[in-house]
Amino acid sequence: MERNETLMQYFEWYLPADCGHWRRTAAAAGALAAQGITAVWLPPAYKGAGGVREVGYAVYDTYDLGEFDQKGTVPTKYGTRQEYLNAIAALHSAGIKVYPDIVLNHRIGADGTEQVTAEESDGKDRNREITGDETITAYTRFDFPGRGGKYSDFRWNWHHFDGVDWDETKRKNAIYQFTGKEWDSEVDGENGNYDYLMGADLDMGNQEVLEELDRWGAWYLETTGADGFRLDAVKHIRFTFFKDWLGKLRQRSGKPLFAVGEYWKNDVGTLLRYLDACGDCMSLFDVPLHFNFYNASHGGGGYDMRNILKGTLLEARPERAVTFVDNHDTQPGQALASWVDGWFKSIAYALILLRGEGLPCVFYGDYYGIPHDKINPVGGDLMTMLRVRSERAYGVRRDYFDDPNVIGWTMEGTEEHPASGLAVVLSDGAGGKKRMSVGARNAGATFAPVTGGGQAVVIGPDGTAEFSVEGGSARVYIRI
Ligand code: CA
Repeated sequence: MERNETLMQYFEWYLPADCGHWRRTAAAAGALAAQGITAVWLPPAYKGAGGVREVGYAVYDTYDLGEFDQKGTVPTKYGTRQEYLNAIAALHSAGIKVYPDIVLNHRIGADGTEQVTAEESDGKDRNREITGDETITAYTRFDFPGRGGKYSDFRWNWHHFDGVDWDETKRKNAIYQFTGKEWDSEVDGENGNYDYLMGADLDMGNQEVLEELDRWGAWYLETTGADGFRLDAVKHIRFTFFKDWLGKLRQRSGKPLFAVGEYWKNDVGTLLRYLDACGDCMSLFDVPLHFNFYNASHGGGGYDMRNILKGTLLEARPERAVTFVDNHDTQPGQALASWVDGWFKSIAYALILLRGEGLPCVFYGDYYGIPHDKINPVGGDLMTMLRVRSERAYGVRRDYFDDPNVIGWTMEGTEEHPASGLAVVLSDGAGGKKRMSVGARNAGATFAPVTGGGQAVVIGPDGTAEFSVEGGSARVYIRI
């Protein structure tokens, strides 16, 4: 029997830097599977510039999965290479797929500098040069002396990058484009050209870079047995890059290699254009949906809930939408902080988990809480909804997005999933009632609420019943 898939982002920004995360991940695998999690996105597993304090996005050596004494440590923040591989094995044993976080846009923490001729780009219009050629001291030499050539003898130098944001001679921060280089075309258009994000920016037009990334991808896949990828910062990387990179890996491995890209833009048109440009080679996180949740949660009950799915990838291209409520960047204190307020979490999770569309991604910080910011887990509602998704969110859906406060939908269930069938009513404002149909197949059945309190209802002969909700909450009914 096919079950709905549910992805989980298995980290938040402020995990303890105790090198214990991979061990804890392995220990949790069975419980996650029992809860209905079918795939996890694991954080970047390679050595970063910050050593044991590195969350993973300041990439230093992608071949060092916690094996070599580099950046002051053998293990990464999350543990050793062996512990990482053990965690993946434990997840696989539990039937959970593993999607590692892949950061290919930049490198940080170079082993040495080079004298490079560069021009300064205007930060707000990167196509515009605001200085002539000058010689800068750039952190662009990556020799990995601590690894000593194991797995790969590839060494990076300035030819492999388009630019940096630091001149060590002048100790000056600016966006420096190396002379003779162009920012990769076909990237996000913000700031004129958003190829450059941070660190030493990889030149995806350089043949040696492309070949090295192909070699590394094959090595990584073989080493880890990953089932797919979460791709970081895709809007800063040549739009055609992943089509080729993923295509080769898929062909070579014979695996479908699911991929989800992080294109951080609250504009569904931009996301759709990217899907076209990358040859539809990946899914994307539904950033517009996150911002709808964010706005509704900060709307004091005044958000028009009829519009909660408007302008989202879930609405426009559900088969390519990875839906989420929050992540490690949107959590308080982080780069893209836009935290969905706690009271709205159950409503948002009902919308991503219980509608049978999109691949939902549950955030670690919602599942376990974020002690760093004294944020509690979402708790029982989330746990209940995960099980309801797995067992009951099947069959024909009927939507009732017909009121500014109280909206709802039903899924009538299928023969194949004997316990299936559900009804959901939400309100961001006052409570209310709504007559909804769960289909003639449920006539005479009893539907009981499992979140949000309330009484059971008996479905009438016409397949309808009046379902209700209290203010600012989500009530989920299941057939009993
Ligand atoms: Ca770039």
